[in-house]
Amino acid sequence: MNMLKLVGIGLLFATIVGIVAWRWQINGWGSLVWLGMVFVMPIIRTPHEKRNKDNTIIEKPEAGKEKTLLSMVAIGNSLLPVVHLATGALSFANYTLPHGITAIGCAFAIPGLYLFWRSHADLGRNWSVTLEVREDHKLVTSGIYKSIRHPMYSAIWLISLAVPFLIHNWIAGLSAVVTFGLLYFIRVPHEEQMMRQQFGKDYDDYCARSGRLWPKF
Ligand code: SAH
Repeated sequence: MNMLKLVGIGLLFATIVGIVAWRWQINGWGSLVWLGMVFVMPIIRTPHEKRNKDNTIIEKPEAGKEKTLLSMVAIGNSLLPVVHLATGALSFANYTLPHGITAIGCAFAIPGLYLFWRSHADLGRNWSVTLEVREDHKLVTSGIYKSIRHPMYSAIWLISLAVPFLIHNWIAGLSAVVTFGLLYFIRVPHEEQMMRQQFGKDYDDYCARSGRLWPKF
């Protein structure tokens, strides 16, 4: 990416963040928590994305479907909330919650961000945005993956569930839950099938002793 493009994107990004932050009294303090949350997520993810660019991919199932689902998630968890918070375009669908209820959003967001960081750290080189098997792919069954198979999705569920408490709007507040929910329920069967094909009995044994989104008791 050339320098001019980078500066342009940086300026656009800073302007949008500035407008959203400046309108916090209209949108409520939850909007600032939301802004912090969506700021921290790429900070956690980008170093992993950069390092894993060098991976050699040997399998990439459901590529077309994955692209569509990820675009929908981007609209649901970023575009719609940003447009609403920056312009008030969706204000007709606002709802009101008692002041303190916004704090429930933080109670979801904080463990969500922790899990988001921890799952990227534990998957390391084996992580990818879309469904992929890389050359030399290792089945990770330690760290947070010891008892949970999809902790990154647990993290994104928590983060998505925080949003309706932070952004009090039926569309911008719930779009992340709806779009991520769609991705989750469509993707997980394909992901588990891909892992089973790759790791066979090791993956079956791993499934038997772990839970999908929280530990098996
Ligand atoms: N579903 C996992 C990972 C999401 S990232 C979670 O929620 O934490 C998706 C990629 O992670 C997939 O392309 C797959 O190759 C890889 N992956 C998922 N589980 C894995 C595991 N236990 N070990 C190694 N790679 C894994």
